[in-house]
Amino acid sequence: MLGLMQDWPLLVHKIIDHAALYHGEREIVTRSVEGPIHRTNYREIALRARKVSAALDRLGIKPGERVATLAWNTWRHLETWYGITGCGAVYHTLNPRLFPDQLVYIANHAEDKVMFFDITFADLVAEIAPKLPKVELYVCLTDAAHLPKAKIPNLVAYEEFIAGASETYEWKEVEENAACGLCYTSGTTGNPKGVLYSHRSNVLHALIAAQKDAQGISSCDSVLPVVPMFHANAWALAFSAPMVGAKLVLPGAKLDGDSICELLTNEDVTLSGAVPTVWLALFQYLEKTGKTLPHLNRVLIGGSACPRSMIESFETKYGVQVIHAWGMTEMSPLGTLGTLKHNVVAMPYEKQLDYKVKQGHPVFGVEMKITDDENNELPRDGKAFGRLKVRGPSIAKGYFRGEGADAFDSEGWFDTGDVATIDAEGYMTITDRSKDVIKSGGEWISSIEIENIAVGHPDVVEAAVIGVRHPKWDERPLLIVVLKPGKTATREQILDYLKGKIAKWWMPDDVQFVAEIPHTATGKIQKTALREQFGSYRLPTAAE
Ligand code: ADP
Repeated sequence: MLGLMQDWPLLVHKIIDHAALYHGEREIVTRSVEGPIHRTNYREIALRARKVSAALDRLGIKPGERVATLAWNTWRHLETWYGITGCGAVYHTLNPRLFPDQLVYIANHAEDKVMFFDITFADLVAEIAPKLPKVELYVCLTDAAHLPKAKIPNLVAYEEFIAGASETYEWKEVEENAACGLCYTSGTTGNPKGVLYSHRSNVLHALIAAQKDAQGISSCDSVLPVVPMFHANAWALAFSAPMVGAKLVLPGAKLDGDSICELLTNEDVTLSGAVPTVWLALFQYLEKTGKTLPHLNRVLIGGSACPRSMIESFETKYGVQVIHAWGMTEMSPLGTLGTLKHNVVAMPYEKQLDYKVKQGHPVFGVEMKITDDENNELPRDGKAFGRLKVRGPSIAKGYFRGEGADAFDSEGWFDTGDVATIDAEGYMTITDRSKDVIKSGGEWISSIEIENIAVGHPDVVEAAVIGVRHPKWDERPLLIVVLKPGKTATREQILDYLKGKIAKWWMPDDVQFVAEIPHTATGKIQKTALREQFGSYRLPTAAE
């Protein structure tokens, strides 16, 4: 017997309709790519999103076809997302930090029909356009006056594109399992792989994300997603904020400490989300200027591990609560969040910190387990570590066009490629990505744990640990460090600092100082590049 409840398809544009109707005057503030601060509200965004839908429909874009966006977080980018999904098409976020050849591969693989892009990327678009035979129209997210001069075929300014279109356009009635978004992830091996979100998965994920023990957002919050919309859906904030009617503050192209601090302060931001490197830049700016963060109440930190020292600085120096989060493009992206459970709240602060550095506990809708290589489940004791596997309604069940099928098993589990522990409370700790784990004498050393402790040294800005070949032990850890400007900590001082904080056999065999550590397009330490850079390096212990 079936239940007698209504069929109300979970469609993404219902979120913006709800925001327009019940939070219509709530502001969306953007540092525009052209320069000035721009202000609009949910009512306007919803109207203009309908115009985007109507204009794409008029162009002949059919449900299921892909429409690319190569853009910063702005109000126009937000409008395109809802406009694209509203006519049944699929928004496809392109990461401008990728190499042009990678973008060409991805846009061709996705068969993007239209490309919306910011003026900042005009030269990049001019370079790749000749290699994108499927793209029929390039829409620059600006007005006619700011249209770039770069040689781009079939180019139109966004404001012209939507000018004549109807703001009473009726959203296309697609089914809730229809595709609505596409984002390529770097993939642990081989070519980038496409993750194809559905309306249903995005709506469910936004509902899950908004929960109190997740992002915990409400209409009283002012939310600044520094994390780009092209990086794993801006961690759901472009859906969860309108869903609850929170004010949205969008940073455009400027993600430096000065610009972010200005928005945090002037727009009364209560919640923000970014990868650790963004916060490092903000801290450097705050230290230099002596400024504080008067309104900010909590920050979401993820994408790579958040060191304990960063949590302590935020909480004790600036009075901002840290929510450490872990997720993946394949998971829409949120998987676990480090909010404190009732029994952890009762613990002394130092003990709470032990939980906050973990990657968090799963939200409802994320099943999680760790297994050994033979797929046997490992105990949830905080000690055993193994392959982290997940399943749930907003987790990918395959990649676009069937690639990378070996990451998914017959029981529906997705192998994240991460190595982790899960403790008795359900808090998960990432020890490494499986390809970065250091195998020494048959045992595993967690590069992330050593890095997290090393950045706690007062002279260190950033640290990376890689495995280097060793004749006796197979691999031994090498610690690579960037010092703060003018600081002079030596190899011995840094090794001394680690002593007693990690197991003796985890101690790096050497420390190397570099001016800069390379990062990936999503802000992670690029270990492949470091391994190449130190390819001919020999450990001092290697002769033993
Ligand atoms: P890409 O692989 O393209 O960078 P993602 O942003 O989807 O794309 O990366 C997901 C990966 O990022 C995870 O599998 C994990 O290795 C890493 N990651 C995300 N959040 C954290 C975190 N809080 N701590 C450690 N690693 C993290």
